[in-house]
Amino acid sequence: MIGAGLSGATAARVLAERGFAITVTERESHPGGHCHSYRDAETGIMVHAHGPHILHSDSSEVWAFLQRFAQLRPYRHTVRAVTGGRTYPLPIMLATLRQFFGRDFTPDEAQAHLAAMARQYPRPPANFEEQGRALLGDALYEGFFDGYTRKQWGVEPCLLPASTMRRIPVRFSDDLSYYHHSNVAIPEQGYTAMIATMLDHPAISVRYGAMAEPALAAAFRHTIYTGPIDAWFGHRWGRLSYRTLDFEVLRGTGTFQDVAQVNYCDLSVPWTRITEYKHFTPWERQDATLYVRETSRACGAADIPYYPLRLAVDDSLAHRYLAAAHASSGISFVGRLATYRYLDMDVAVAEALMAARGIAEALNGGAAPPASIDDPGATSAKVQSGRR
Ligand code: UDP
Repeated sequence: MIGAGLSGATAARVLAERGFAITVTERESHPGGHCHSYRDAETGIMVHAHGPHILHSDSSEVWAFLQRFAQLRPYRHTVRAVTGGRTYPLPIMLATLRQFFGRDFTPDEAQAHLAAMARQYPRPPANFEEQGRALLGDALYEGFFDGYTRKQWGVEPCLLPASTMRRIPVRFSDDLSYYHHSNVAIPEQGYTAMIATMLDHPAISVRYGAMAEPALAAAFRHTIYTGPIDAWFGHRWGRLSYRTLDFEVLRGTGTFQDVAQVNYCDLSVPWTRITEYKHFTPWERQDATLYVRETSRACGAADIPYYPLRLAVDDSLAHRYLAAAHASSGISFVGRLATYRYLDMDVAVAEALMAARGIAEALNGGAAPPASIDDPGATSAKVQSGRR
């Protein structure tokens, strides 16, 4: 297993419980991957090192699996958006519409108002901008999405896939909860502790500070790779584009903002959002506070790849790497980086569970395990559509 993040640990655990001995190599000195959390020494507050992570899922299977490794504390995620210097509830809901347009709406009136403002296109919206204007009309799209998206992705919104826009719901009610899944929670002791517990099995040994060497794979019956897919192939056809994030950690006393996450949609504000971490652990009490300003930029070779950019050129390059992965033997590619997709944590776990079972069955049956769990194109479509 290359990588001790959420995907790697999930798959390692399933395989270990099915009788396989697993060696995990992890280049960091701790498990957790991009979900890594740590307790800030100064304030005692639990911080998500790579930006805010909230577990949300409708899958009882994923939930039952994760509950074995952590106390999952129910949590309600609430988000605000600042645009034009004013603060609104997000996702766009009745209260947002009332405040933005300065008038009252019943749910039906709000829906009719949006429909009247929606841009009409002669074909289904082909990109993020068209999708936004078609769903919300120009004023809301420009207020809440245009500036934020330019900062987050660094490109014209018309170059981004329409599917990214569809991640954001619009509600004709006033439920402030950002996620409407049957389960929304934060692991009581953080993500790293949960993932460390997954890896705590007699058949799993973890080597920290170990780089993933393709040559190493020869010593094992099968390898599962959870790192960036282009890196595995030595970037032979070029680098896939990612956005990386810079986190500016600030500390103070009291409470900086009333909710965990505030998005800054105006282009004139350099950061995309501020996360205040004490809101994720309402069962803990801290007088101090820690909040993090997040800015996004192009990911260089030495940076941490966070969001796959997925412009048309990246998609064709990604397909080349995914086809090479598909044609490989002795290795399976699992998780967000290895499949060049944006995955919510519950989807990452669901896919890792499925991949590990497929690998176990193949190895037990004397067959070659699949290189990836699905046809790359098909998986991407399935994950996008099943989200909210
Ligand atoms: N987005 C936006 N304004 C917001 C929130 C989201 O324009 O206030 C856009 C932006 O392009 C973002 C995408 O919607 O990348 C998906 O948002 P989500 O909240 O799912 O992003 P994540 O929290 O995963 O970064």
